[in-house]
Amino acid sequence: MAKLKLEYLWLDGYTPIASLRSKTKIVDGDPAKLSLEDLPVWGFDGSSTQQAEGKSSDCLLKPVALFKDATRKGGFLVMSEVLLPNGEPHPTNSRATILDDPGAWFGFEQEYFFYKDGRPLGFPAAGYPAPQGPYYTGVGYKNVGDIARTIVEEHIDLCLEAGINIEGINSEVAKGQWEFQIFGKGSKSAADQMWVARYIMARACEKYCIDVEWHCKPIKGDWNGSGMHANFSTKHMRETGGKGYFDKLMDAFNKHRDEHIAVYGPDNHLRLTGLHETQSIDKFRWGVADRGASVRVPHSFVNSGYKGYLEDRRPNSAADPYLVASRILKTVSTVPLA
Ligand code: ADP
Ligand code: MN
Ligand code: MN
Ligand code: MN
Repeated sequence: MAKLKLEYLWLDGYTPIASLRSKTKIVDGDPAKLSLEDLPVWGFDGSSTQQAEGKSSDCLLKPVALFKDATRKGGFLVMSEVLLPNGEPHPTNSRATILDDPGAWFGFEQEYFFYKDGRPLGFPAAGYPAPQGPYYTGVGYKNVGDIARTIVEEHIDLCLEAGINIEGINSEVAKGQWEFQIFGKGSKSAADQMWVARYIMARACEKYCIDVEWHCKPIKGDWNGSGMHANFSTKHMRETGGKGYFDKLMDAFNKHRDEHIAVYGPDNHLRLTGLHETQSIDKFRWGVADRGASVRVPHSFVNSGYKGYLEDRRPNSAADPYLVASRILKTVSTVPLA
């Protein structure tokens, strides 16, 4: 037996977008054998997180995914859903709205800015750095600065040690802007991992006095915004597909455009302008290999007979991946398979 440090993570009730909260529970256990089923339901004071009134403020935390925490001896990260005292999902519990589908796969591309002293890392105290161009996938101090590389490397290692399926990273178009990608099989897995990967990133930054800016358009003007492109596929899309099904799917995405935009992150009108590799917010359009479309269809999709995955480019960097996955699968479920 050892003392284990379980960090329970959950989403609060703030609007327009929930934030991560967490606290530590110390339990006795064997770190080599700990599994999700061993983790107790816990609770917290919902009146401090916009999830309850003061008089009856207890909310429950139900563990849903378990990861190792390499920063702590005996450490684990416990992604949790918030439940009401009667055991039903709390109204803020976006994860509980996702249709169960083991055949659904998601790959999220998380873009974000590092922020220090109220501006993107590498921006001068007054004015702007050199215009965009060399920063995307760039190398060298003048392109990526001195500390960002240290943090993104630390983040990769912590994610891998946690058991998170991080697929890659790259520096992005704006100075101080980066991306990491997370892939998961099953309708909830990638979103669970994304929230934990965001937590690991924000926490890794603390000691450098750096924050992560998740907002989709922190710098106005000719600077890229941040997205969270949602790449998705279902078993039917991967194995059967076809042009007829694809056309019906895109009709459904067009029809439900407003419901999608409603959960694709706050202030998205600032980002989805039709410029900077985006389609404008009030239009829906798909295009093959088209980074100015709402949904980008990979060449491989068309070449294999309209089979494979699609990229919804509209979700922004601050969006809740649970809500994004939930909405995509709802729309997909309206389209008959035959
Ligand atoms: P780009 O920057 O060109 O848009 P990335 O390489 O950053 O592309 O991201 C592509 C994403 O697509 C990855 O997160 C990957 O996991 C995801 N992906 C690949 N195949 C599938 C699939 N069959 N279903 C869902 N997502 C997929
Ligand atoms: Mn990418
Ligand atoms: Mn990108
Ligand atoms: Mn992309």
